[in-house]
Amino acid sequence: MKTIGLIGGMSFESTAEYYEIINQMINQHYGGYTSAKIVLFSVDFSEIERCQSEGKWNESAQILIDAAVKLESIGADMIALCTNTMHIVADDIQSALFVPFVHIADVTARKIRSKNITKVGLMATRYTMEMDFYIDRLKSFGLEVVIPNEHDRKVINDTIFNELVHGIINKQSKGNFLSMVDDLVGQGCEGIVLGCTEIGMLIKTEDRLVSLFDTTQIHCEALVEKAIR
Ligand code: GLU
Repeated sequence: MKTIGLIGGMSFESTAEYYEIINQMINQHYGGYTSAKIVLFSVDFSEIERCQSEGKWNESAQILIDAAVKLESIGADMIALCTNTMHIVADDIQSALFVPFVHIADVTARKIRSKNITKVGLMATRYTMEMDFYIDRLKSFGLEVVIPNEHDRKVINDTIFNELVHGIINKQSKGNFLSMVDDLVGQGCEGIVLGCTEIGMLIKTEDRLVSLFDTTQIHCEALVEKAIR
């Protein structure tokens, strides 16, 4: 079994999900007492959040490159960044590494294409929805991407930063998110990308008939596949 290197802490709530999901999948595969080989570098999210809101992407890249290189040096066979937003600096991280970097948008796009879906809605932080880095990556797999209107984008972003990263699961917010899913479906989306690693804590695949692509779940699946290969 290969060792999975995780750069986490963005937020620690979703990183805990990664830890649990990966271990469950590894145990399901091997059975018995088997658990995953994981090395985790959990960064201070307040430093990253400050870089995000001040647009200091180079500074955040340095923090994440440093974490990635340290993980590689202690034996990680692959590296994953446990957040969608910070994939804005994915290329910088990847180019500092010898081991593979498992890009969350790539594995999500492949999963979507495998279901013959081409038009998806994207729910994520405002950075992920409004900047090019993530949508362009999805588009490079032949996907058409729809984002919610300005009001809804603000609601999603506020919910992520004021509730989900603090582990707060609010019924009203869940209702808001599900009606935004319905709205995107009304615009012709055949699937919805939960493009923030905390959104899966709020809405679940079973909440709607339309395919919800939970990036946390898909990212973990891809890492486990690679670890057991
Ligand atoms: N975990 C989130 C994501 O997947 C948001 C927190 C962050 O801004 O890094 O984008």
